[in-house]
Amino acid sequence: MQGTMQDRPLRLNHFVERAERYTPSKLIVSGTATGVEQRTYGEWAERTRKLVSVLDSLEVPPEARVATFAWNSARHLELYFAAPCSGRVLHTLNIRLFPEQLTYIVNHAEDDVIFVDRSLLGLLTPLLPSFRTVRHLVVMDDGGEAPNPEGVSVLNYEELLSAAEPAEFFLGDENAAAAMCYTSGTTGNPKGVIYTHRSTYLHTLSVLQADSIGVCESDTVMPVVPMFHANAWGLAHAGVATGANLVLPGPRMTPAALADLIVEQRVTVPAGVPTIWMGVLPELKGRDTSALRTIPCGGSAVPKALSEAYREQLGLPILQAWGMTETSPIASVAITRSWLADLPEDELADLRASQGPAVLGVELRIVDQETGAELPWDGSTRGELQAAGPWIASGYYNDDRSADSFTPDGWLRTGDVAVMTPDGYVRIVDRTKDVVKSGGEWISSVELENEIMAHPAVAEAAVIGLPHPKWGERPFAAVVIRPEMTLTQAEVLEFLSGRVANWWLPDEVVFIDEIPKTSVGKFSKKDLRDQFADHVLPSD
Ligand code: AMP
Repeated sequence: MQGTMQDRPLRLNHFVERAERYTPSKLIVSGTATGVEQRTYGEWAERTRKLVSVLDSLEVPPEARVATFAWNSARHLELYFAAPCSGRVLHTLNIRLFPEQLTYIVNHAEDDVIFVDRSLLGLLTPLLPSFRTVRHLVVMDDGGEAPNPEGVSVLNYEELLSAAEPAEFFLGDENAAAAMCYTSGTTGNPKGVIYTHRSTYLHTLSVLQADSIGVCESDTVMPVVPMFHANAWGLAHAGVATGANLVLPGPRMTPAALADLIVEQRVTVPAGVPTIWMGVLPELKGRDTSALRTIPCGGSAVPKALSEAYREQLGLPILQAWGMTETSPIASVAITRSWLADLPEDELADLRASQGPAVLGVELRIVDQETGAELPWDGSTRGELQAAGPWIASGYYNDDRSADSFTPDGWLRTGDVAVMTPDGYVRIVDRTKDVVKSGGEWISSVELENEIMAHPAVAEAAVIGLPHPKWGERPFAAVVIRPEMTLTQAEVLEFLSGRVANWWLPDEVVFIDEIPKTSVGKFSKKDLRDQFADHVLPSD
């Protein structure tokens, strides 16, 4: 028997129409190269509709890819909705990718038009001749100063918009492509993930769940996480959907500038990767942060020391979330379940340092990589984390690597190694390729580096496995010391004794100026491995 409910497509148009009708006076504040600018959702929605006309007048075909090369801003948000709500596909380009990868991505996605912030134009200009399908380049003036490239016809965003009339949205299929994003994988070419209207709609609702990030109308949300990286964790969509004020930092990305935005705009939900929050904390000292409600953080493991430092200084721990480009990305959030709330403080800190239970709508399991058998949720058995749900990818765009990344029963193989606690909390132990395999046993590089980063003199630490004649691999730690502090290998090892098993102690600790980072601000183990490729561990 069928139900008697209306079968209405889940389309992103609905979010814009709500913002127009219910929350037109709420604000979107954007950082620019020179200051901040502000517009209302009402103004934003009208400009978004004009942008639809612009795409029509540029004869961007249905389903064509509309690429952005841009900071987080209201203009970027206009593109976020004008492309999918006109039957085209938004393609956010990562501004920090290597040139060859950008060329690969633009050509693989067959982008038709690129919208670029003027302050980023200098990065794109040298690559323009390598783009095979791009017909238009539209520059968005954000206070940056780069000159237009020579010999290429360049359009101006504001001029196009001021000549356009607001248009009706296209009413398409809920399973039509809305946006695409390439993984920032450190090996091989990036892989394309295509989100649908439906998947983005449902993912947005999950971000609004109280047991997730719980974005609501009264929030002021500041996605520091880039809009080109995994949909800014759904927070830009959540802003439009609820009418929460949005603060989009643009190029104002220094720790001091971010702290100013948090304080001056009375941000309630700022979200970013751990390296961002490491830098911002000292800048918030002694300032009015009373508006803050929660600080979502993910993209890589949140060191317990970082989360607890926020708790001590601001009375507010970091809220850890786990996800991937392939999972839209929010898949689990480390909320504290009610039956666990009375645990001793150090156990609560451990919970906060976990990746938390799956959000409603996502299923997670851990699996033996060899046999494919599902493993128990006992808090100690490690296996590959796999995910399923309506906003989890089922394949990659035009890519024969899809077969390796999905199981025969359709689950995403995340490449993360995790344990599950009996209460359903995920603890990411490592990436499958980053665990240190010492004498057949696994050492978690993530746990080890988190313990090192708990040392007060340590700013950053990353652990990799280096070849060892007896054990196969042994842990090797690269450590960045805080300014004006000192630290020796012996002190690090002494600090770790008792915190980790003895056989986990790194064979060597070296001190370097900076841990190499990926295009999205995570520690780049690949670059660190390259840096120490010829390094030989001490023999005893
Ligand atoms: P990306 O697709 O660039 O967002 O990268 C996804 C990967 O980042 C995941 O597979 C994890 O390895 C890592 N990651 C994301 N969030 C977390 C987290 N909270 N803790 C540990 N690793 C994380």
